[in-house]
Formats: sequence, C-alpha cells, structure tokens
Amino acid sequence: MDEPKKIALALPFIDADATDYLAEVVNENWVTSGGPAVTKFENQLQEFLYTEREVVALNSGTAALHLALKLAGVQSGDFVLCQTMSFVASSNPIAYLGAIPVFIDSERSTYNLAPENVEEAIEWCLKQNKKPAALVAVHSFGIPCQMEEIAKLCKDYEIPLIEDAAESLGSRYKDQSCGLFGDYGILSFNGNKIITTGGGGALICKDAQKAEEARHLARQAKSATTGFEHDAVGFNYAMPGLNAALGLSQLQTLKERIQKKRELHQFYLECFTEIEEVEVLSVQNEEYYANYWLTVIRFTGSDSTRNPEQFQVFLAEKGIESRFPWKPLHLQEIYTKQHYFGAQHAETLWKTGLCLPSGCGLTKEDLNRIQQAINAYFSG
Ligand SMILES: *Cc1c(COP(=O)(O)O)cnc(C)c1O
Repeated sequence: MDEPKKIALALPFIDADATDYLAEVVNENWVTSGGPAVTKFENQLQEFLYTEREVVALNSGTAALHLALKLAGVQSGDFVLCQTMSFVASSNPIAYLGAIPVFIDSERSTYNLAPENVEEAIEWCLKQNKKPAALVAVHSFGIPCQMEEIAKLCKDYEIPLIEDAAESLGSRYKDQSCGLFGDYGILSFNGNKIITTGGGGALICKDAQKAEEARHLARQAKSATTGFEHDAVGFNYAMPGLNAALGLSQLQTLKERIQKKRELHQFYLECFTEIEEVEVLSVQNEEYYANYWLTVIRFTGSDSTRNPEQFQVFLAEKGIESRFPWKPLHLQEIYTKQHYFGAQHAETLWKTGLCLPSGCGLTKEDLNRIQQAINAYFSG
C-alpha cells in the first residue's frame, strides 16, 4: 500500500500566479534591495493594516526586532522585559545588544504576557535603580495580548513598547491591528508565517523619524554623500526586491489566508467539543480577532495514558505532523541565568500543549484524515 501523503504542520502556501510576480522583478532586474517591488510591498502592508505608520521591509523578523530595540535606545546592560512563551527570536536581539532579558509568564486566558507579572517585573527593575529600557510583547500563535493593559503599563512607567507581531498579521484587539499598539511593531514573513517572502520581516514605526533611521541602519548607515561614508555601525538588513515580489503575490490572498486559518480553527474546535480532556486555545470574546496562525491544543486531564508526546507519535504514524509549543525562553539553557517573573502557565502550556496542522493548503481530504486520527486516538 502507498504511504499516505504527509500532512505538514504549515508549509509555505504559494499562489498560482506567484511566478508572474517573480518574473516581473527578474525581467526588470529589480531583484536586489531597493526598487519598486519593495516600496509597493511596504505600501500594501500599510493599506492592509489601515495605518499611516511607516512600514519598513527588512530581510527577517529578527532583524526588525533588533532594529526596534536599537531605535528604542536599548543599550548594553539594560533590562528588557520579554514574554517567555515565544520563539527564541523574540529574545535573541536583546542579547545581541548586550542587554539583559527579564522574562515574564503568560496569563491563563491568552497564554501571552500576564499584566500583573509585567508590573511586578517593572517594580523589581525599579528597585535595582534600572527602569526597563523596553518591553517585548508577543501575540503568540496569532492570539492578541491584552494590549490595553500592557500599553497602559508602558505609558505609566514610560517604557517603550515593542510588539512582536511575527505570528499575528491580520489579528486585531479591540478593532486595532496587532503591531500598531506599541512604539514599534515587527512582522515576519519566513516560510511558515501567514504570508511568506521566502525570508523577510518588517518594522512598523509610530514615529516617522525612527522609520528613516531604521532604513538608514538597515543599509550599513551609508551617508547620503557620494563616497563610502558611514555615520554609524549599520546592518545589512534591507529586504531584496525578489523577496518583496513573492510578498506582493502573497498579500493578494492574505484575507483568504486568514479566513482559512480561522476555518481550520473552527474545525478543531468542533473536533474536540466532545473530548473533555483537551482544550483548544481560543479567544471567544468580541474584543479579540485572532488569525489563529497555528491552532494549539492542551491536555487538561490528569489521565496519564493520553498525553501530547504519545498523541504526536500516534499522528506521525498516520503521516500527520504536529509540534510542541515553544519551550519557554526562561527555561532555555542560554537564558536560565536571567530573571523571571510569574508562575508556571507558560511551562504548563509547553508541557501539555501540541500545535496541530494549520497550513493554508490543507484539503478537505486532509481534514478528514486528521479528524479520523483524533477520533481514533481519543476513543481508544
Ligand atoms: C518567526 C518569529 C520571529 C522571527 O522571524 P524571522 O523572520 O524568522 O527572523 C520572531 N518572533 C516570533 C514570535 C516568531 O514566531
């Protein structure tokens, strides 16, 4: 018997006309950084987000976060508050700058930053006579943070707010897009994000002057003069036109992609309604509109015979890929010496959670196979 087709967690989803967009930049020789495709991509992102804020296209989300922290004034030795339930790219740029991450637990409802632990961490930093130089809030798995409370804390204590919206393009909180609440917002377009440019990212700046600085720093801080004069230690972070062209093709279907992710999420909610030992991470509240980049389930029962590790193996045998949620950053070997505020919510999610296939290319047949696998596992 033939092996069944493998169902991946989230493959890049390429539109049929993508090659037209790519052919155009190749034929016009606009493949490298700068050029009309990059500007067009930035403008279309701005339109999609309904914002006047400048959007700077870069070659990764990590680069965007690095620039955001730098522009926020983060320096070596500073404390930077950071959500622990995230991919390591949320905190690595803090380390690039020689700053010290202070990790914060998640709240039970969204599994993003717990506001009371944010305040606790700020107070602790103040006691060390070092006000945090920035806060990095992450909308993990496409579910928005409690941005109002977090933004208020940042305002009250005058701490620059950076939103890591890498996974949440198209998600909204109280009708405002993720990425627009803070002083800076970052997006990622790597292979498995909701849209991809092959690799890439963007920085959204509240202050237009800062966006100018970002563009400058992203191009080795080359002065406007004719020679090779550089007025700062810059970076090679600009997005090439080739990548922007793929991004332009992807943006045409962004609304459908979000719709598809939300339908998949609904599908999983229905799959698990009768299964009491599993909770689907979901925000059923009008204030939140999530893109559900990845749907995550959590085993809530103490039934030791069924658990995420075993379910993952069961799914893999049926050719279905799944993945554990991020290992909390404060538990990573590279960050265990840092400070941490909170309880074990993030750790519990890591230990009891599983991300299920959430790619935009999943077919009805794929969903049937997934549903059958879920039913077989939980009825066994
Ligand atoms: C993907 C991701 C990033 C990094 O983006 P790259 O484009 O891969 O550098 C940052 N933060 C989070 C939360 C992400 O999921």
